Amino acid sequence: MQKKHIYFFGGKFTEGRADMKWLLGGKGANLAEMSRLGIPVPPGFTITTEVCKLFYKNKRRLPNEVWKSVQKAMQKLERIVGKKFGDPKNPLLVSVRSGAPFSMPGMMDTILNLGLNDETVKGLASATNNKRFAYDCYRRFIAMFGDVVLGVNKEEFEKVLSLFKGKMGVKRDIDLPAHVLEDIVEEFKGIIKRFGHTFPQDPYIQLKMAIEAVFLSWNNDRAIFYRKQNKIPDDIGTAVNIQTMVFGNMGEDSATGVGFTRDPAFGEKKFYGEYLPNAQGEDVVAGIRDPLPVTQLEKALPSAYAKLQKIAEKLERHYKDMQDIEFTIERGNLFLLQTRVGKRTAKAAVKIAVDMVNEKLITKEEAIMRVDPAEINQLLHPVFKRGAEKNFKLIAKGLGASPGAAVGKIVFEPGRAVELSMKNERVILVRKETSPDDIHGMEASTGILTAKGGGTSHAAVVARQRGKPCVVGAKSISGKEIIIDEARKRLVVDGNVFEEGTYISLNGESGEVFLGEIPTEEPSITNEFGTFMKWCDSIRRLGVRANADTPEDAEKARRFGAEGIGLCRTEHMFFQEGRIEIMQKMIMASNTSEREKYLAQLLPFQKEDFYEILRVMDGLPVTIRLLDPPLHEFLPKREELIREITELRYSGGDPRVIKEKEEILHRVEELYEFNPMLGLRGCRLGIVYPEVTRMQVRAIFEAACQLYIDGANPVPEIMVPLIGSEEEMKHQRFLIEEVANEVFREKKCKIKYKIGTMIEIPRAALVADKIAKYAEFFSFGTNDLTQMTYGFSRDDAGKFIQVYMTTSTKCRYCGTELTKELKCPHCGREYGEKPENILKIDPFQTIDSEGVGELMRIAVEKGRATRKDLKIGICGEHGGDPESIEICEKLGLDYVSCSPFRVPIARVSAARAVAKKKLKKLEVADK
Ligand code: PEP
Ligand code: MG
Repeated sequence: MQKKHIYFFGGKFTEGRADMKWLLGGKGANLAEMSRLGIPVPPGFTITTEVCKLFYKNKRRLPNEVWKSVQKAMQKLERIVGKKFGDPKNPLLVSVRSGAPFSMPGMMDTILNLGLNDETVKGLASATNNKRFAYDCYRRFIAMFGDVVLGVNKEEFEKVLSLFKGKMGVKRDIDLPAHVLEDIVEEFKGIIKRFGHTFPQDPYIQLKMAIEAVFLSWNNDRAIFYRKQNKIPDDIGTAVNIQTMVFGNMGEDSATGVGFTRDPAFGEKKFYGEYLPNAQGEDVVAGIRDPLPVTQLEKALPSAYAKLQKIAEKLERHYKDMQDIEFTIERGNLFLLQTRVGKRTAKAAVKIAVDMVNEKLITKEEAIMRVDPAEINQLLHPVFKRGAEKNFKLIAKGLGASPGAAVGKIVFEPGRAVELSMKNERVILVRKETSPDDIHGMEASTGILTAKGGGTSHAAVVARQRGKPCVVGAKSISGKEIIIDEARKRLVVDGNVFEEGTYISLNGESGEVFLGEIPTEEPSITNEFGTFMKWCDSIRRLGVRANADTPEDAEKARRFGAEGIGLCRTEHMFFQEGRIEIMQKMIMASNTSEREKYLAQLLPFQKEDFYEILRVMDGLPVTIRLLDPPLHEFLPKREELIREITELRYSGGDPRVIKEKEEILHRVEELYEFNPMLGLRGCRLGIVYPEVTRMQVRAIFEAACQLYIDGANPVPEIMVPLIGSEEEMKHQRFLIEEVANEVFREKKCKIKYKIGTMIEIPRAALVADKIAKYAEFFSFGTNDLTQMTYGFSRDDAGKFIQVYMTTSTKCRYCGTELTKELKCPHCGREYGEKPENILKIDPFQTIDSEGVGELMRIAVEKGRATRKDLKIGICGEHGGDPESIEICEKLGLDYVSCSPFRVPIARVSAARAVAKKKLKKLEVADK
């Protein structure tokens, strides 16, 4: 039987449902669902995502049998609406829109008013008795078709439109009369000819070309970039929706708009949105005209507004989540064109989730799944220091579209934003309005400022999604337009000119823009956030600790909710001034007793630091790792020393200084390693120089005993790095125990402690049962474990990982750049779609579950076979990565440890891992 490629929606003809989004895409599935709920939806049909896959297999052409089905479906649609496609008297017009299973706002293409040509436009004019409207639709269609299908830059059309507006002395498109729009249509057709195309007059040819263009847009650069950013698979494809047009540009009783059932920036329960009277859909999102708040619709078109509000409530109750809707009012009649789960800031996400539990709409588990842990950091975004704005000049104000304070240098081009951010400069991208082509620049900026657009403009939506503070539609304080001269790189506000590089500060909540660098501070936490985190903590099984090497970091970690320290890298304590010099002398020592002399000088510093960290973490475990890096890292670099010595010799420098430097150089050369990552580091240091381990362990226990005597409850855990064998572990364990007992005897006090190891060498995972005989805990050092499992140097991987992760545009076999048709001009291979990337994820960010994850599984299993109560954690960078935390939950680890700022993310991720399991179980039980 032939597969069904087309599903109808709209009234009783509806075939799809909300749960069919994999096949129908989000838009198609929800149009069907809305139809089932009795909500007015213009009828149409969805071409499935399966067809998208067939399209790419079929050398990026619509297969014949699908095209036949589309033609049949068009005939059915004609019968449903009582109009004919291409009818010169009263033509049926359709929109052709993309719709993937995951929402990808603005990334793919849309074409409106399809079916218009030189004949049907006249029919539309007479059928509606509105020539101006008909030609407005036609000029829009030609421009969209030219841009999306034929690849003519939309700027070409914009230029002509502006020219005509200038000639007529009007500012807005809607003030152009019919005869001028007629001329514009001719000009537009001329543009298309100039670019070597002919605008097709046959509506079916238009339709086929448009469908193919939308499928092609699945693989445009912006869509690919967006999918990578949002970890959306490349192979799921998009659906295409063909829908009867309804018109918001039929006059003042018509409008088009977008709305959110709750405020997407702050989460308040109020209908929030914007609309434009006498306009078509794209105008609102594109920020071409300044939209009006949706509440004004109540006065303008009261009955449509009342209906809209009711539908919004119904949709929210039905989907049990905040909805983002698109609507059109055609001569007073309301139609819904889309509903989807609304994107929101983390602040709004938390508030909406907590409110919805209180409103008994969702469960706590569902609430936890509603907040993306990676976005939790947005809530911890800096804000201006209390009252600091007072000392700075307020230059502009707009709509606060995404919260947080951003301070940076003005830049006007996305490319420049990327360039400066690579040099660690903070930049604010200032644009008239943004478009999907600006995403890379937005990503690189600390904040975004636009002169146009409202709360649903591209800039606002993207900024919220990426957690960037953003102000849109900014005006000067006197209410005048601000001029953003992107070509001359100038921002002009009330006659004052600000060049690229000028510092500004913006408040993404109040919409205020200040001149200069306002100092910022960490934010206070809202009640909803507190409640939400409490729920997360009560449901999660994994403990959350922090990686912290200083008392300040330890304090920060506790404030963020860490339940101990999972990794204290002691080498960081030696890098401070006053210590590094002693450390260098210790390394230079020619014999053990000399080395011990300098170690004794380092001991008080270490002890002091351990005392403070253990004090801050009173009663909570503190995992202290013994010295790990190669010793030569503490000495000056060889090249620098040679340069200094040469300079001193030529300038007649002090011979004693020269000699000292020469000695250091000699030692540096002695210690030099070809591959320091695999050299004298980790436990190997403590085995070759046991006195180093002795000093560190003594410092830990002297600090712990002192703290205990002072009335606190220190819980030290000593962690040995880079263990690869049972014998290494045994060696270090006995040494540690010996020193601990020595200190306990001297101090006449005994502290409970644990000895464990990092599992960061693949061999350690494989012999974990043996190592566990001498270790009470394991902590996965997934940075080294990934390095050694993949054989990718953690310090050099940047050079090739980006290439591995990029979808190539080159032939995989001969490296020649592929043509636009994805054909290799050299060896003739045809790809159909861009060649697969080699790595789907960066294994240094997310655990490589197949390789590293498998080693972890083996280590857990073997370790616990030897020691049932073996405590197991993770302290590599992956400990703060949501996806990796889910893997840790599955592997049955006891805790994750990450940098203090990621602790809240880890708490939420750990809760989500449990909530997900629970919800899955319920789902299975329901079925
Ligand atoms: C690791 O290797 O994962 C780890 C935490 O140790 P470091 O990054 O200090 O080598
Ligand atoms: Mg390591």
